[in-house]
Order: sequence, then C-alpha cells, then structure tokens
Amino acid sequence: MVENDDEKQRAAAKCDRYGEIGVVQILPDGSLQPLGQSSVCDCDSATLHVLETDSDLSES
Ligand SMILES: [Zn+2]
Repeated sequence: MVENDDEKQRAAAKCDRYGEIGVVQILPDGSLQPLGQSSVCDCDSATLHVLETDSDLSES
C-alpha cells in the first residue's frame, strides 16, 4: 500500500436523490470527489450527502 497521505480525507457518501452509495474524497475546499469511479451516481454529485468519514468521526 502506498497510501499514507493523511491530508486526503475519504468518506462514504450517499446520493440524496437515488440513494446510491460510494466512496468519495473530501477536498480541502470541502467539495467531494468520487473515488474509483467517475461518479457515485448518475445524477449531479452536488446532491451527495456524506455519511461518515474515515479519519474524522466528529459528531455532526
Ligand atoms: Zn444521484
């Protein structure tokens, strides 16, 4: 494994519209970028809702 980039924060995200779930990377500016696929869902990723994060389990 060559993944020791602590600055990258990954999270599970769910599409609010269709319920599709995928892994995303949370960018420093707070935007979400799907990992391992072009998009979590067919619709606009702006509707993604973060379920939980890998490295930061702060309560919301
Ligand atoms: Zn969707």
